[in-house]
Amino acid sequence: MTYPQQEQAAFENAENIRALQNRLLIDQVTYVYNHSHFYRKQLNDTKLDPCSFRGLEDLHRLPLTEKSALSENPALFTCVGPRQIADLCQTSGTTSLPLIVPQTRSDLERLAYNESLAFEACGLTADDRVVIACAIGRSFMAGLAYYLGLQRIGATTLRTGSDSTAHILETIQRCAPTGMVCVPSLALHLAERLESTGVNPATIGIRRLVCIGEPIRNADLTLNPLGEQLAQRWQAQVFGTYASSEMATAFCDCIHGAGGHLQPELIVIEILDEAGNPVPDGAYGEVVATPLGVEGMPLLRFRTGDICRLIVEPCACGRNAPRLSPVLGRRNQMLKVRGCTIFPNVILSAISEINEIEAAYVEAFSDFALSDRVRVVVSLKASNLTEDSIAEALSARLRFRPEVIIRSKAEVETSIYDPTSRKPILFRDHRSS
Ligand SMILES: [Zn+2]
Repeated sequence: MTYPQQEQAAFENAENIRALQNRLLIDQVTYVYNHSHFYRKQLNDTKLDPCSFRGLEDLHRLPLTEKSALSENPALFTCVGPRQIADLCQTSGTTSLPLIVPQTRSDLERLAYNESLAFEACGLTADDRVVIACAIGRSFMAGLAYYLGLQRIGATTLRTGSDSTAHILETIQRCAPTGMVCVPSLALHLAERLESTGVNPATIGIRRLVCIGEPIRNADLTLNPLGEQLAQRWQAQVFGTYASSEMATAFCDCIHGAGGHLQPELIVIEILDEAGNPVPDGAYGEVVATPLGVEGMPLLRFRTGDICRLIVEPCACGRNAPRLSPVLGRRNQMLKVRGCTIFPNVILSAISEINEIEAAYVEAFSDFALSDRVRVVVSLKASNLTEDSIAEALSARLRFRPEVIIRSKAEVETSIYDPTSRKPILFRDHRSS
């Protein structure tokens, strides 16, 4: 597969986008049928003949692919021999052993193309110097993709990684970068460190922050408090991205910040309800991904477990393909409180609007068969807020009144920064599964 230098597909009209996706989807289904043991058996079992597969209109006839099937026997999904594998990526493996994802040279070109389109939509060009302040090693796909994408647009890369704050700070003060890719909480930490030494982060000249791994927008696409802080302290435009190694595809905000752009030549996205049926246009549901043009470990109808909605109206940037909303939460984190559905992210976002709260996490218990009990544990900056007044403030923002407990900063942080987890734990699920 050769990828064009200029982005085109997302700017096409809906009819052309559909025709392109149909063609690429038929190619991908035929390819996996011929090369993947897992899908050949599955398609034979469901009596689906790839020769009669008509593309998007037949997509629902293919079974969904569960993450568990992939982690149980990844070799069944591998479509290429050892000599064709250029790189073995690994997922972060937060809940289980990392998944190993073989990438061919064409897959690496696809990654570079995907990420170059994302960076161009952010307004980055060959004139930019961009710090990649996330792991480019540890076999992660993301850091490699950022590097390849920035190289493809001709930008200069500064591969600081994320392990040493001192190294990142020294680099950004010496090398005059204009952009940075990192998790937003690291960007905030860097700004605070600079400020503590009397340096205003805005004077560094970083004008674009591509934020990965954590949300910087609310459900209505406005910046959340973390996104606002970053924009203000760095005097930069902040961009959200959504991606996973299994999808091998990233969705990134453009300069209009109106959701993560879907690149129609690289992926088909469905939004499904709990029963596996498509939701109405614009409604929330689970993101089910069928990446296109993948050779090493292509997946059909992969259940991501992430709850999002598709924004189908054309974007002000001129791209007509849909955008993906910020992730509302994970399917398995969905809470049922008094008949309403809510995700921990939404509760955390309501908490972050209360300035006096310093750190917080959410816990869920299943005391009753039909309703979950939600507890919010917080530590406060010097404040006269009480557990009662916080619960009251949260109930005004949410549709229920959570239980609130105030603890010391040390107690809350010990629970959030659990040494057994790579990521901060902001949601503890004590419900029996
Ligand atoms: Zn746009």
